[in-house]
Amino acid sequence: MFLFHGVITHFMQAEMLKEITDLSEEELERKRAIGSITTKTLSYLTQAFVTGGFNWILPVVFSKATDPLWPDPQASIEKRVEVEIYGREVRAMQSMIVHKITACSLLYGRLFTLSPNIRIERRDRAATGIHAYEFTQLDFEVRHASSRDIMKLVEDLLCGLIAHLRVEAKEELKLLGRDLSVPERPFRIYEVTGNEKEFCWVVNMPREFYDFEDFDTGKWDNYDLYLPGFGEVLSGSRREYEYQKIISKMERDGVRKESYKALLELAKSGRIKPTAGAGIGVERLIAWICGSKHVCEVQPFPRIPGFVGEL
Ligand code: ASP
Ligand code: MG
Repeated sequence: MFLFHGVITHFMQAEMLKEITDLSEEELERKRAIGSITTKTLSYLTQAFVTGGFNWILPVVFSKATDPLWPDPQASIEKRVEVEIYGREVRAMQSMIVHKITACSLLYGRLFTLSPNIRIERRDRAATGIHAYEFTQLDFEVRHASSRDIMKLVEDLLCGLIAHLRVEAKEELKLLGRDLSVPERPFRIYEVTGNEKEFCWVVNMPREFYDFEDFDTGKWDNYDLYLPGFGEVLSGSRREYEYQKIISKMERDGVRKESYKALLELAKSGRIKPTAGAGIGVERLIAWICGSKHVCEVQPFPRIPGFVGEL
């Protein structure tokens, strides 16, 4: 999709804003093909994690301790959903990063979840084609893993998925006019920006307190994965686990320490283990697979920034 500086064209508005109740039979057929690819993708990925010894944990929606999404130059949140329940202030989940680190330290050395994330993006993000105000993250974490371990795991996972879908979703891909090929490994690594035409990693981005920062060199041990002709589909890092570093980053960044009491107490007593992980934007991955113009096309009930439908 080609958009000019965030302007939403009439074409896009008309196409994007359709709920399933408004779709033509032809559009419904496309939606069904995407749904079938979604089922096959989730089935493949969850199976791969389970086979790889990962524990599947159920998601949390309301919590005191959600991803601050700050400071992150890419974030564009216009509102944080905060509600009071049982006399306590909680937020709608922006990502389960704190829960992943905690559970990976205390419970399971390898875990993943399919987690609904609520991010009330600024309205101009409707035009990027890759933002939705509710989406699902396939979020995972591994104790004592390095960045390289996670990158290799992701590369193998995605190459395996593409090879699988080429065979198992042949009909659907044909209907969608999509021809996928398995990329070469390892993917290239860039600092700052990558090459739009290939699978590539972008590393070393200053952002939230939980990503590992080397205070001596100023380098960040984190990574985003970009898909060709699409954009970012995954972000992750090696994590901070030392109390003093976490506290000093929270203070530096103006992050509310009272929201992360459990994490801070565990870190203080040395119970947070070194971990690394990442999260895949499920709708983004499927939109790329299907060649969709907008992530909302792969959502049965579109969640486009700025547009609240009837369903
Ligand atoms: N899931 C990401 C991570 O594991 C955090 C995010 O949602 O941006 O680092
Ligand atoms: Mg992030």
